Amino acid sequence: MTARAGIIWTLLLIVAGFFSLAFIFYTLFPGQVPANAWQYFTPGEVERARRYQQIMRLAGILAFLAQTALLVWLVSSTRAAAWSDGVLRLTGGRYYPALIIYFILVWLLLKIIGLPFNFYSSFIVQHQWGFSTQSLASWWLDYLKGSALDLVLSGAGVILLFLATGRWPHTWWAAAGLFLSGWLFVATFLWPLVVAPLFNRFQPVTEGPVPTIVTRLADRAGLKIDQILVMDASRRTTKANAYFTGLGATKRIVLYDTLLAYPPDEIEAVVAHEIAHWQRGHITRGLLWGILANFLLLGLLYAVLKLTFTYEIARPGPYPPHLLVAMLLFLQLVSFLGQPVQNVISRRYETEADRVALELIGNPRAMINLQVDLARKNLGDIAPPPFIEWLTSSHPSALARIQAAEAYSRGQ
Ligand SMILES: [Zn+2]
Repeated sequence: MTARAGIIWTLLLIVAGFFSLAFIFYTLFPGQVPANAWQYFTPGEVERARRYQQIMRLAGILAFLAQTALLVWLVSSTRAAAWSDGVLRLTGGRYYPALIIYFILVWLLLKIIGLPFNFYSSFIVQHQWGFSTQSLASWWLDYLKGSALDLVLSGAGVILLFLATGRWPHTWWAAAGLFLSGWLFVATFLWPLVVAPLFNRFQPVTEGPVPTIVTRLADRAGLKIDQILVMDASRRTTKANAYFTGLGATKRIVLYDTLLAYPPDEIEAVVAHEIAHWQRGHITRGLLWGILANFLLLGLLYAVLKLTFTYEIARPGPYPPHLLVAMLLFLQLVSFLGQPVQNVISRRYETEADRVALELIGNPRAMINLQVDLARKNLGDIAPPPFIEWLTSSHPSALARIQAAEAYSRGQ
């Protein structure tokens, strides 16, 4: 490892450590919520939501730290390289079988370390707080299906990536960036058709107030919207939500069935928000940001690997399997540190969608009631500490969204 590589890795670890400590500090000591919160929420509600968020945040950051610690240990000790030699001996020096075994080994270790945190936050806590409607068997089925999908897709990705390092030892990152960009479009297009149905059932909404709401709002937004589906979310949770997904012909708005119990004007506010994402092309714009980020990330990855493993990379043929661990560590750290950028873009889109939604429905009161109801029932942190919001919030806080609706109402 060159001295420069040492400095880069040390810096990455120090900043990630600092972010993690600050995250834990503000999770434990979130401070006061702004005074205007009391207009909408009782101290008991705020306290309860904060306690729930505290638990979820701690489980999340501890899982991240545990997995990062494993990767740091593998990279910094000689383990990663020793295992790589071991599997190569096992396969009689055949590279690709060795790479596959090595990948599965590292993948399994990360999975095993993450499992207790995952189980705790998505099963135990969800039951303790009265959200989960899922049996243990059904949770495991989800977990196994999700893991199998992840194993196959990331396994294929790793094989292609290492193939590319053999073919283009110094420009593989550009090839990988191009491939990943294409894949992002394909995956976004196919996700609602192939992946989502593995976990839920989707049905067009034909009854209740929704069809009329959609026709009216789509008309106002100047869109033709034929895909509004209801998802059987209640088989897992009592939480309510909605999302906009897909690309081109697979574009659709999905409402949780748990949302249908809400008052019609609040459902209208939700649908208007999702239609606003649709009208403003937020998925396509998000994809373009994603592509930019991919090239940047892969280019940086190559630069860091070149400084760290100068000798291994100079040899002909694909990179040795143990570079996988350093790649994973780098991506883990950089995507953790890159969250503020990703979230600032996401929050901007969400703010824009709320504003367009207000224009579409012309009813700020409904939007305010919706935010209050969602925060109450989903135990959302209505005003997270600024550092936590900056680092991890993909949406503006409930209080910020309420204030935006109030401002709109004053300007009407
Ligand atoms: Zn949104």
